[in-house]
Amino acid sequence: MSFVTHLECANCGDRYPAGEVHNLCTACGKPLWVRYDLDAVKQRVRKQDLAGRASTLWRFLELLPVSDPAHIVSLGETSTPILRAGRLAAHFGMAELFIKDESRLPTGSFKARGMALAVTMANQFGLKKLAVPTAGNAGGAMATYAARAGMRSWVFMPEDTPATNKKECHLAGARTYTVNGLIDDCGSIVARGEKEKGWFNVSTLKEPYRIEGKKTMGLELAEQLGWELPDVILYPTGGGTGLIGMWKAFGELEHMGWLSSSRRPRMIACQSTGCAPIVAAFQQGKRFAERCDNASTIASGIRVPSAVGDFMIIDAIRESGGVAMAAPEEDISTWMRLAASSDGIAICPETAVCLGVLEQLLESGGIDRKEKVVVFNTGAAQKYPEAVQERLPAIDLTKPIPWDEI
Ligand SMILES: *Cc1c(COP(=O)(O)O)cnc(C)c1O
Repeated sequence: MSFVTHLECANCGDRYPAGEVHNLCTACGKPLWVRYDLDAVKQRVRKQDLAGRASTLWRFLELLPVSDPAHIVSLGETSTPILRAGRLAAHFGMAELFIKDESRLPTGSFKARGMALAVTMANQFGLKKLAVPTAGNAGGAMATYAARAGMRSWVFMPEDTPATNKKECHLAGARTYTVNGLIDDCGSIVARGEKEKGWFNVSTLKEPYRIEGKKTMGLELAEQLGWELPDVILYPTGGGTGLIGMWKAFGELEHMGWLSSSRRPRMIACQSTGCAPIVAAFQQGKRFAERCDNASTIASGIRVPSAVGDFMIIDAIRESGGVAMAAPEEDISTWMRLAASSDGIAICPETAVCLGVLEQLLESGGIDRKEKVVVFNTGAAQKYPEAVQERLPAIDLTKPIPWDEI
């Protein structure tokens, strides 16, 4: 049995029973929160009990919606390390800087957390056909977990999605289609397929459980830091589930009295100047964002022109005292090279944007150089061959080796 009491619309507050298949709120079409009996969880488990459990996201089982561990679909969702980036910190004039390296997860991105939960819950409900629109990594993770569960899957992605994502979906046996449009155009196809083909739609926030998986980033971070949260979190924001999920995690931990202080981090939503609808809405004091029609960025995971959970992202940022900010698209590959060459941390282009935002906030005084800052590396640089334009000098074996130039 799980500790879920009910589901609740994030917009109108309508309630839905647990134990049934849900997508969006049927009253207003907005996403649903999963609610738990946190007092009962607190009775059942103490935070020190976690110490003896395996280092995977399933160590937080009481705060997850799974009712029978037999339903779990897993590829070994390991806890990810928080790495010190000493030379990068020195570059910024900071004493220290931390990077939580989510690239270690199955399929090379934090999307595995969400899909492990979404596919586990689909398995619990006996669903067999899953479909998703994707900017890249969500499709790869969904296809892979669906294969793990023995389910059929359909993936729709913009035609200029990174080649690695296309190949991983194909390898995992998903029916994979490229679409000459943006991710929300792919989303419309999946929405039609729900009716026409009987697919279950696992699109970001259109089912309630991916966010519960992403929530484990926040739970894990808190536990790793001895239940004392950092001052600032920088997070590359597309659909926003990571940021929303972490904010939910902090609220649940606070309710249970597991955090050492009630001071929560300022959440910084980072976007690229090539696609920054949340930044625009935040700056204009709005709660709902306008679609970014010409969205274009090499950081494909944050190329999301309109987010269903826009108001949830913006609410979390505001409650936390954070901001939404964009960094120049042109600087992405420079930041990737700097992080990998100075500290050996191969960050994805999405996270490169966070470093650009960090630089701006340090300069403006929005972040103090002494604060404890955690940047999330949401995926592996290796998944983005297109983002790196290297021209390597060649050795021609028919000529003498140019030792003077090497
Ligand atoms: C999907 C994705 C993001 C954006 O995550 P959201 O939580 O949906 O905002 C960031 N980075 C990478 C690598 C991604 O795949």
